[in-house]
This record gives sequence, structure tokens and C-alpha cells, in this order.
Amino acid sequence: MTPDAINRLVANLAKLPGIGEKTAQRLAFHVLRAPPEYARSLAASLLEVVDKVRLCSRCFSLHDGEEGTLCGFCTDTRRDDRLLCVVEGISDEMAIERTREFKGRYHVLHGVLSPLEGIGPEQLRIRELLVRIKDAPIEEVIVATNPDVEGEATSLYLTRLLKPIGLKVSRLAQGIPMGGDLEFADQATLARALASRRDM
Ligand SMILES: [Zn+2]
Repeated sequence: MTPDAINRLVANLAKLPGIGEKTAQRLAFHVLRAPPEYARSLAASLLEVVDKVRLCSRCFSLHDGEEGTLCGFCTDTRRDDRLLCVVEGISDEMAIERTREFKGRYHVLHGVLSPLEGIGPEQLRIRELLVRIKDAPIEEVIVATNPDVEGEATSLYLTRLLKPIGLKVSRLAQGIPMGGDLEFADQATLARALASRRDM
């Protein structure tokens, strides 16, 4: 009989994306064999993430500042206020940031339009995007959603909203394969796609 505590740990680990039952078991036994300080530090950092990390109230990136304060991307005075990159999620923002090619601001939608899954514009940070654009000196919006069906639909939807306001709207150039994922694109490909973005 496996102790309940281990079963609970395995069940919780197995809920993580990409972790099956077997891997969860291996991780659980690894934690058990490691010095107890490791488990304590792991538990503490899990709690710290939940307690301290929140969304920036302007761009919806993650940050660990006080409630209602802005993140580093929004407060960095060296970044270009005229350029705004709209991404689906935090991991896409991180991928673009790794290219070191983009020096504008970000806006994280936290998803894409997906009528089948019941995700409409209200479920994304689109209203907030329109509000922040109203009183910012933004000239160009780069829609960096993934080149898949939902990403394309979201990009079209945003283009129809943003172009009439007089904004330049661009999309990442090809190089990112259709159906591909920004998160997994290599830095050079993503940097090239960013540099040769196309008008919408
Ligand atoms: Zn921010």
C-alpha cells in the first residue's frame, strides 16, 4: 500500500500539463529521496507564486509588485510607447522578449477567440486593450497571435477594431509555420518574423 500522502502528491503532479501518471510518480519519489530542504523550498516557491504574482493592471503581464501597480514592461522608460505587441499568453511574450528585437510595449490577451470553446471577445483582455489605446501614443499594433485558426481569427477581429481608429496593424511575417506555436519557434525565426511583419 502506497501511503496516502504520496498518492496525493502523485495526483497533484499528474494535473500538470505534459505530466502523466508515471512521470508524476517518478517526480514524487525524486522529491522524497531529495534532502527535505528541497521539498520545503519547492512548496514555498509554489505558494509564493500564488500569493505574490499578479497581473499588471495595464498590459496583463505577470509581475510581483503591489496590487494596482504596473509591471516592468509598462514602466521601462526606454521602451517605445508607439509600438504595441498583442500576444495570446505570457509564454509568447517571453518568446518575443528572448529575441531582443522588440522594444515596444505588450498587451496579453490571455487566450484567443474560440467560439467552439465559448471564448468570445469578453473573455479576453480586448476591452482593456481598446481603453488603453485611447489615451496612449500608440501608432502601430503588432498582432502576434499564433498562426493557427483561432490566432488568425483573433488577428482579423482585432484588425477590424483597430484599423478604423487610424492605427497601423501588422502581423508577424511567415517563417512561423501554419499551425505552429510562437512559444516553440527558435529565436532567429521569431526575430525574422518580427522584423518582416506585414500590414493588415
Ligand atoms: Zn504591464
